[in-house]
Amino acid sequence: MQTLLIDDDAYSLWWLARLLERCGHAPVTSCESATEAMTLLETHFETVTLVFCDLQMPDVDGVQFVRHLARIGYRGDLVLVSGEDGRILHTVEKLAQAHQIRILGALTKPVAPAQLQQVLDKTLSAQARRVRPAGHSYTPQALERAIAGGELVNHYQPKVSLASGALIGVEALVRWRHPQDGLVFPDSFIATAEEHGLIDALTQRVLTMALRQARQWQDEGLTLQMAVNISMDNLAALDFPDVVVNMADEAGVAHASLVLEVTESRLMKDLRAPLDILTRLRLKRIGLSIDDFGTGHSSLAQLRDIPFDELKLDRSFVNGADKDPSLRAIVESTLAMVRQLGMKSVAEGVEDRADWDFLRALGCDVAQGYFIARPMWGHDIPRWHQRWQVHSQSLTASGP
Ligand code: C2E
Ligand code: CA
Ligand code: CA
Repeated sequence: MQTLLIDDDAYSLWWLARLLERCGHAPVTSCESATEAMTLLETHFETVTLVFCDLQMPDVDGVQFVRHLARIGYRGDLVLVSGEDGRILHTVEKLAQAHQIRILGALTKPVAPAQLQQVLDKTLSAQARRVRPAGHSYTPQALERAIAGGELVNHYQPKVSLASGALIGVEALVRWRHPQDGLVFPDSFIATAEEHGLIDALTQRVLTMALRQARQWQDEGLTLQMAVNISMDNLAALDFPDVVVNMADEAGVAHASLVLEVTESRLMKDLRAPLDILTRLRLKRIGLSIDDFGTGHSSLAQLRDIPFDELKLDRSFVNGADKDPSLRAIVESTLAMVRQLGMKSVAEGVEDRADWDFLRALGCDVAQGYFIARPMWGHDIPRWHQRWQVHSQSLTASGP
């Protein structure tokens, strides 16, 4: 295992090598140009597992070097280092990801020990991730059996008011209790469900369990909004609103207590059915949330065309927004727009106190994320709620 450093500035090179050695990350090989590094990679292709690369270099720059790494099929991790401003680093990070190169992070010069340690911590977890059956994909047959056999379960993640701290509702997040692989997360099977016509059955299961859970809390004196994720592929059958309403009525849950979070995972050509269905859901007072706003196809056009009453700002805009001028501008203007449209704003991916304080100051309505709570089993919610009521007092003590 080897670490490769590339920087035309000899001092930066020396400094980073020293820091890495101090973190126990030897052996380190230093190159003063990308050309030198390319030659070295020709012979040491298999052994180099981590590359630190400066962006601004006279002969071959960082962008060209990333392109080269992609061309030779480099399988290791990459860390970008630069004296350039954060936006350039961020763009190169995205570019490398688009080339399918694993990016551990971007360091700004002069590299601080704590900053480096954060990135190195990720190497360890990235390696740990690789050991697990990562990217494991399941056959549609296995998934179909799991849905029918009751192997899907829901976790619930709290959504709380930023102004008062009050618990407003939860989002149901599906998991597959796999007999061999343990708890499998939705990223490993939702796409399969969508591609093989299983998403309707999956959504039915998730909704049934979620509504049953909502009713149970209600009976215990805790009335919460229940949010369920639906895929655009669920919006093909015109009777979807009637099915959902019947399910809510049967469970004894008020229509207004149900929220459907919609993401468009692929481009829809024919919008007739989705528009018909979403409008009728709103007429029946079911809440509609535009999920992952700002990414992929969740866009202004949808906001214009569909009567959403809640907007969920994607976590890629939320975490660390107070420290990043671009994110800050995006979050501020999105929240202003949401307010003008008379919608409710939800920030997902609130991971620390800084995120919380920032969103609270901007008047965002609802927060969700690890800072508040991780997704948990339904029966754990009431106990978590009791602790939260005490803890949240200090978070809302001062007026925003
Ligand atoms: P999502 O709708 O954006 O859900 C939020 C995801 O972010 C969840 O991942 C949640 O565990 C995670 N998360 C929550 N707080 C934080 C935080 O502070 N930081 C970070 N980094 N992550 C946080 P999960 O449970 O793995 O779900 C992934 C995606 O799978 C969901 O993204 C949703 O799009 C989809 N999904 C989940 N359940 C269902 C379902 O029943 N039906 C459909 N169609 N899709 C589902
Ligand atoms: Ca969601
Ligand atoms: Ca999201």
